[in-house]
Amino acid sequence: MEIGYIGLGAIGRPMAANLAASFPTTVFNRTSEVARQHVATRGGRLAEDLGDLAGVDVVCTCLPTDVEVAAVAGVLGPLLAPGTVWLDHTSGAPAGSRDVAAALAVHGVAYLDAPVSGGTDGAERGALTVMVGGDPAVLDRVRPVLGAVAERVVHVGPIGAGMAVKAVNNALLATSLRAAAEGLVALQAGGVDASTALEVINASSGRSFATERLIPERALDRSFPVTFALELLAKDAGLATGVVADAGFEAPLLALVARLTDEAALQLGAGADHVELVRVVEATADVELG
Ligand code: NDP
Repeated sequence: MEIGYIGLGAIGRPMAANLAASFPTTVFNRTSEVARQHVATRGGRLAEDLGDLAGVDVVCTCLPTDVEVAAVAGVLGPLLAPGTVWLDHTSGAPAGSRDVAAALAVHGVAYLDAPVSGGTDGAERGALTVMVGGDPAVLDRVRPVLGAVAERVVHVGPIGAGMAVKAVNNALLATSLRAAAEGLVALQAGGVDASTALEVINASSGRSFATERLIPERALDRSFPVTFALELLAKDAGLATGVVADAGFEAPLLALVARLTDEAALQLGAGADHVELVRVVEATADVELG
């Protein structure tokens, strides 16, 4: 199977590198210098433009939102052979993924929404979790491709269901990160060292990925590497409120977290990592964790 990979961002680069180790892989990136460097250091062939991907069997996209995917599909879709499979690893809106799927179906191209979880370190290890929406028979055809990037692949429902699960997962991440930051800042302001508090919390029922990994590994030592942009987390928390609205009920906590995460992303700007959400909470109490 020949792969075309579009979108060499923080998560796309390690995924494309793992694919190139197992399949003939051609990569395209909007900023072509990024793709040129990627090919030089991590393998694969360079696509100068989207047309260079016309002959591939599987297209993978990993772009910021479904809006960019729709634009790329509008150009590349008509050039693909019927029977091509489009694996969309973007975290986008469920309705947007259904629109892209319908536009590609006109050209005989099968679409699966296949957003990923596990972060850049999981992507480097080929150990992502993939949540897939779409036809299970199409999924079976591309399982070997997903096997090169993922440890776990879960079929979660029809097209759009993968996007919905991903949005809710990341809304939970935003919630636990924000809640942990608020609790730890309060404790430290009251005289309990954050790392001492975490020793207790991480052996107790309040623990989460934020308390076990993100805050100890990045906030306490003030390293804050940019692996997943805060503005992308805010986008996902917002998408989760859309999932709630589509289901026709109210989720006040998720709505509040989406608003707070959005405000934090605006405050810190485009270059901020998601864990820097902690900084916004610290500023409200004039406390620094760690
Ligand atoms: P980045 O911001 O690092 O990369 C975005 C990529 O999209 C770049 O290759 C960029 O190209 C390209 N791009 C941006 N706008 C356009 C456009 N208008 N047309 C074509 N290409 C465009 O994002 P990530 O790699 O972090 O995230 C990508 C997706 O994966 C997002 O949906 C994110 O939510 C999701 N995700 C991210 C994870 C992470 O840990 N980083 C984990 C799980 C999911 P250029 O180089 O030209 O800017």
